[in-house]
Amino acid sequence: MNEIRTILHELQIDPYILYDAIVKSTDDYVYLVDMTLDVSLVSENMLQDFDIPGRIVPGLVPLWGELVLEKDKVRYFKSIEQMLEGITDEHNVEYQIRNRKNEYVWVHCRGFLKRDDEGKPILFAGVVTNLGDKGKVDHVTGLFMQTECEKQVQLILNQPSRNEQSGILLLGLDDFTRINDLNNHIFGNLVLRQFAQEIQQVLPDDAVIYRLDGDQFAILYENTSRQMIDDLYQKIHAYCNRQHKADGTLYFCTASAGIVMIGEDSDNYLDLIKYATCALEASKHKGKNSCTFFTKNLIKSKLRSLEIADNLQTSVLNNFEGFYQLYQPLASSKALKIDGAEALLRWHNEKFGEVSPVEFIPILESSGLIVTVGKWILEHAVKTCRKWIAYSPDFIMNINISYLQMLHNDFVPFVKKTLDDNGLDPKHIVLEMTESYFVTDMIALKDTFRELRDMNIKIAMDDFGTGYSSLGLLAQLPADIIKIDRIFISALKDIAFNRSFIGSVIELCHSVGITVCIEGVEDSDELKIVLNLGADSIQGFYFSKPISESDFVQRYFNS
Ligand code: C2E
Ligand code: CA
Ligand code: CA
Repeated sequence: MNEIRTILHELQIDPYILYDAIVKSTDDYVYLVDMTLDVSLVSENMLQDFDIPGRIVPGLVPLWGELVLEKDKVRYFKSIEQMLEGITDEHNVEYQIRNRKNEYVWVHCRGFLKRDDEGKPILFAGVVTNLGDKGKVDHVTGLFMQTECEKQVQLILNQPSRNEQSGILLLGLDDFTRINDLNNHIFGNLVLRQFAQEIQQVLPDDAVIYRLDGDQFAILYENTSRQMIDDLYQKIHAYCNRQHKADGTLYFCTASAGIVMIGEDSDNYLDLIKYATCALEASKHKGKNSCTFFTKNLIKSKLRSLEIADNLQTSVLNNFEGFYQLYQPLASSKALKIDGAEALLRWHNEKFGEVSPVEFIPILESSGLIVTVGKWILEHAVKTCRKWIAYSPDFIMNINISYLQMLHNDFVPFVKKTLDDNGLDPKHIVLEMTESYFVTDMIALKDTFRELRDMNIKIAMDDFGTGYSSLGLLAQLPADIIKIDRIFISALKDIAFNRSFIGSVIELCHSVGITVCIEGVEDSDELKIVLNLGADSIQGFYFSKPISESDFVQRYFNS
């Protein structure tokens, strides 16, 4: 110590030169606090990146503390307090702090307190390392990554006696590839960053969020319970189910989740993540935007999905073996006459028997097989319709389309060719697409919709009321028909809201030239109400369940 002091003295180094050389040789932020005057000197990069008033700052410690993320403040101030109380001379904490871009970044803050002979603090100096620059933090989101998550989980697993529960909430953004496909990666990254930053604000003190791969995040929640983790998901859910804006673009992005309890579900990090992923996938299969706790049964259903995917693939390769269509009649409300049908896909398999489309369509979609099967669906429905117009010249066939099909460049030419090959006038088909894709994909699908409508093909928005669109948006949608989802009908008799909701939707649609179909009408009471509300067409078990081609012909055309 004395030796160094002597050398520095002999070298007669100007403290300014010394300071300048040190600051210039590091990317870290450097600070010096004169504890007697409570005035600090901070490096130029620190002033550039953080909201502090100048290089020379009075009262830096509380000012800096203000920028620290709310839930990390305790940690930061506790370390300062311990120094002031003389418990330690060392400051060594990691926390998140808000930079000038209003984003929270992870930093590692180290410093040392020098005291005079009486123990009174005179100088506090140190460096703040931006962990993002050290490869520990993900640049896109500003969060710690997988390795850090594993380290922390391992620490919990290594505690000899764990009294408190800890869990992992694995989050996956729903349809994130769609956000990327429809916009670009830069926009996708912006969405990820916004999500990460916003979720941090709702996290309780004992929870930390990490970025895993792609659109997946893990929240490690210590000293918690199943209920508390579920409550946390509900908060995130509420945040997600709003319209968001990034770079001037409006978007929707919900999140699904899977939950595992550390120790209870497994004592092994890799298994915990595997199980959480399994629970997350279950949430996605249930229709996304929901949360599932891991149970051993989920492994079984995952195996089932994988096996079904394999068998679907084999069916497709074997000339669509096992696939067939049923047709559900659509009645016009004027004469209650059947003048159309919706083609509904079915799949029968030797091992699994009859599998519901609610189960196998999402598997076709996630495996990409829907594009090939979608062509088969279209061809079959068009062929059937071509036959049926011989019985009923104005007959219309509704065909369900997945958004993945529409994203393919050859979709419109394929529809055109199929109609041409079968000599069917385009006015005889309606393409149905689920509501949730309308709003978010409207810009990307705009050209496809326009080309289809230019060909005189009508477009129906399916399952209205289950997605994001608001009444205000209806007028702008490129749809000719709105199909109101059956969830509204099932409660129609009891809830006045549903009646006035459906009534207003119908009124609004009519005012902009959109016709309305009501799905899921099961009995004559419901029919009466729906007719009174002014719907244009009706579909539901009241008329018929989906039936085979021959039954349809026999029932409706053999009079
Ligand atoms: P969706 O397009 O909303 O089809 C209507 C579903 O509601 C059908 O179920 C139909 O059987 C059922 N439904 C109709 N009326 C009533 C009623 O009065 N009461 C009740 N409880 N249900 C009624 P399904 O055939 O099981 O199809 C389920 C979903 O699978 C379809 O919902 C659609 O999203 C999808 N899907 C079916 N076929 C295809 C297809 O060819 N392509 C695509 N992409 N999706 C399809
Ligand atoms: Ca449909
Ligand atoms: Ca529907």
